[in-house]
Amino acid sequence: MAGSVLSGAERDRRLLERIRDLHGSLAPDLAWLARTVGEEVPRPDILRDLGERLADLGADLITRADELDAEVRAGLPEHGWLPEAGARRRALAVAHQVGPHPLRCGPIFLAVCGAACFPFYGTDPTGRTARHEQCEKCLHVH
Ligand SMILES: [Zn+2]
Repeated sequence: MAGSVLSGAERDRRLLERIRDLHGSLAPDLAWLARTVGEEVPRPDILRDLGERLADLGADLITRADELDAEVRAGLPEHGWLPEAGARRRALAVAHQVGPHPLRCGPIFLAVCGAACFPFYGTDPTGRTARHEQCEKCLHVH
């Protein structure tokens, strides 16, 4: 199977297995560490093994999160500004910034200032979001 490309669901399942494995081995590792710290110097090989496992898993989780962020962003305007959801009728809604890691809650996206936004214009190919005033808070957080 060398060179085969795993589906996102299969990769997510493997990540979950690795987290479960880590979860299962952390309790004995922690018990051992707690016993040795203060009495003797911890064994560097065991510390390194744990550190490498955490770093490897962490790097793979961050990579997967970046891929998922990119998928979410692909459905949003490239500039990341979305009109506020539920704004008063007829008034032009304030636009907020969803940032590099858009938080999704059903059809709503949470802006970096915490406002709920809705991608009215999808990827906004005609730049309609530019007509909206930009949120001051989002301008400073972004
Ligand atoms: Zn905002």
